[in-house]
Parts: sequence; structure tokens; C-alpha cells
Amino acid sequence: MATATASATMADPARSERRRISILGATGSIGRNTLDLVGRNADRYDVVALTANKDAQGLAESAIRHRADIAVVGDPDAYPKLKELLAGTDIEAASGDAALLEAAQRPADWVMAAIMGAAGLRPTLEAVAQGTCVALANKECLVSAGQIFLDAVAVSGAELLPVDSEHSAVFQAIGSSSAQLFEKITLTASGGPFRTWTSDQMSAARPADALKHPNWSMGQKISIDSATLMNKGLELIEAYHMFPVKADQLSIVIHPQSIIHCLVDFVDGSTLAQMSAPDMRTPIAYALGYPHRIEAPTERLDLVQLKSLTFEAPDEKRFPALRLTREALAEGTRATAILNAANEEAVQAFLDGRIGFLSICELVERVLSDPDTARQSEPSSLDDILALDKFGRERALAYMTRFAAP
Ligand code: NAD
Ligand code: MG
Repeated sequence: MATATASATMADPARSERRRISILGATGSIGRNTLDLVGRNADRYDVVALTANKDAQGLAESAIRHRADIAVVGDPDAYPKLKELLAGTDIEAASGDAALLEAAQRPADWVMAAIMGAAGLRPTLEAVAQGTCVALANKECLVSAGQIFLDAVAVSGAELLPVDSEHSAVFQAIGSSSAQLFEKITLTASGGPFRTWTSDQMSAARPADALKHPNWSMGQKISIDSATLMNKGLELIEAYHMFPVKADQLSIVIHPQSIIHCLVDFVDGSTLAQMSAPDMRTPIAYALGYPHRIEAPTERLDLVQLKSLTFEAPDEKRFPALRLTREALAEGTRATAILNAANEEAVQAFLDGRIGFLSICELVERVLSDPDTARQSEPSSLDDILALDKFGRERALAYMTRFAAP
């Protein structure tokens, strides 16, 4: 058939040149999904650097399978194992904070920033400083550093691509429309595993309950953030920095099926939505292939089988994280950096069984309303951000004793 022949011989722009890629946080949920796509498209990509925190085994296996140039573990205690596992290969092994930064500096055409939490800020900024294309999964970078992060992007000329599914969806829906042409951005949220739970039930929730996300398979920290809805609050802040919108143009709707990832309302009354099965390989593929599209093995949608897509307003009483993040956003990066740090400590404490589930947001609120929080200055440098992060963690730990697990 003429059409089939034409499309078979048509050059695929995404295949026209090989791209060097690095993955910061290669052993995590996003890192592994990225490597899955890289493996399926091995003729398009050369892997430069892969990094992890402690998982030497997982990192070495991926580095060997994808023929990376260098593998780096952040934790020096994991280095001997990494070195041993890579013996006899020509893959370099390294460890420690300086090596993580060095890995991020290695020349690459595309870097996935998928380290969990504010720990990813410095390595991601190193990648940004190279002026390369940075696929940003690590939303905490924008929540902690806000405009300082964006200034670094502007100075280096790096290209920032969203990976978070909602932000990838917005990016796709906005396309080349100018900021004046859209009125509102709605991020969808699944509602997490406790969407229908009462506050009483949530007060007794265990980490295993909170980690059971109904739709997505993700790392531990973001899974807990999804259960408190803090994840959606962090995403609101992320969207505020990533797209040319004011805070009051951003809204959140609960959509338990996680099929529609965003809605963008335009001035002419049109609303564009992006849909896909809840599988991070679709937004990662969009960032990996950008400006082209590459194949991803994500399940295809069958609307007849789905039958209905439902929506509800978020309940800010049961899920105060949404209010807390909006309040912090209104105050500025000083407050969002502290919120992020306090939340990271609170989530870890909940996972360790040191505090109860509801105490996560109570603790964040306590830190945000601490008089010393208001006394911190608005940050103007990376050092200021790191100082605010330290302050937020210390205050959270100081309050923690009052929130002992039930
Ligand atoms: P994860 O916990 O599964 O993986 C985190 C990765 O970061 C691992 O490779 C780990 O070794 C590394 N890491 C953790 N702490 C580190 C440290 N101190 N120093 C160096 N490396 C460190 O997390 P994830 O679910 O893949 O999420 C990663 C980021 O992507 C987070 O910011 C998350 O919010 C964001 N994100 C994740 C998803 C998802 O579906 N998992 C979706 C959207 C956004
Ligand atoms: Mg998301």
C-alpha cells in the first residue's frame, strides 16, 4: 500500500542522531523507567553517567546493561561493592558528593534529574550549568529553589523539560500558545490511597497503607506525599515556576482514575486535556524524544472499557497540605524551601514509625508558623537555599518529639 510504504521509508527525526544521556537517580522508580525506554531504543542513546545513593547492585547492573561510561554512588560505604561489581568492565566507578556533581557535569545532550528530594538540588544545578537539556522529575528543586533555579537555567541556556505527568501534560497542551491565551491550568490528583478515609482512619494509618497507591507505582517519598496530597501541593508550586501563570490560575481537581493529567482552559472557551494510562513511561518518553515523539509501551486507552472518568473537589480539611502549600507559595521561596525540608523530615519520620500519618502535615504547619520561620530572609543564592533547607529540617526534628507515633 502506497501509504504504508511511504511511512516505512520516511526518516524518523527522533532516530536521526544518537544522543548522550545521563540519569541522576538511576536506581529509583523514574530512573528505572527511563532506562527501560533507553533499552527499547538502544540505537538512539549512549549512556554517559548513572548515579544512585546506596544501591550499588542495582546501579552496577544497569551500568553494565546500558554500557555507561561512569557509575556513581553518593554513599561512600556503597563504593567497595560498586567497584567490585564493575571490576573487569571499562565502566568507571566513583562515590561521594563531589563525584555526583562531577557525573552531572559530564558532557551529555540530555540529563534526567530524578534524585529524590532536595538532595537532588546541587547535582541538578550542575547539569543545568552545562547548558544541556534537563528533564526535571525532581520537583523539590523548584519547590526549594524557585526563581534561583530558573535563573540558573536562564544563565546557562539549558532547556528544562517537565517529567512530572501533570506538567508534561500541561507542556503538551499549551504547545506554542502564548501566556495571554490560556486562563487556567488544572492539575489532576488521584486522591491517593486515603481519598475515602476519614481523619480518624487516617490517624491510625501505617506506612504500608500509605504506600499502597491506587494507580501509580513510585518511590516511597512521593508515595507518602501522594497520600497526604502534599505531592499535589508541591506540584502546584512546580507548575507556578514552570509555566507563565499566577498562583490563582492554578487549580487542582481529584480524578481517581488518573487518566486525564491536566486541563488547560483557553480564552476562547476551549479546554485541552492530556490523557494516558498512569505509567510514567509516557511523560518520560515525551521528554526523552522531545521535540519528537518516541514509542513507549504504555497500555493504550480504551474509553469504552474505562466507561467513566470522575472528578471531585479536594477536601482541604482532611488534606491540609494543599492549603499549606498555597500559603507557602504566597509567602515566597523562603517558605516553600522550609516547607519542603520539613515535609521531607516528616515523611521519613512517618516511614520510620516515629510519628503518625496526620502528624506529617501538623509538623509542616508547626514549622511554617514558627516565629523564626518568618524571620528568615528571602533567599538570593544557592547557599541561602541550603541554609533554609537546614533550618526547616532542624525545626521539624525539634518539634518531632511532641508528635510521637500513636
Ligand atoms: P525513588 O526513591 O524511587 O528514587 C530516588 C533515586 O534518587 C534513587 O536512584 C536513589 O538512589 C537516589 N537518591 C536518593 N537520595 C539520594 C541522595 N541523598 N543522594 C544521591 N542520590 C539519591 O524516587 P522516585 O519515585 O524515582 O522519584 C524521584 C523524583 O522524581 C522525586 O523528586 C519525585 O518527586 C519525582 N517524581 C517521581 C514520580 C514517580 O512516578 N516515581 C513521578 C513524578 C515525579
Ligand atoms: Mg505528578
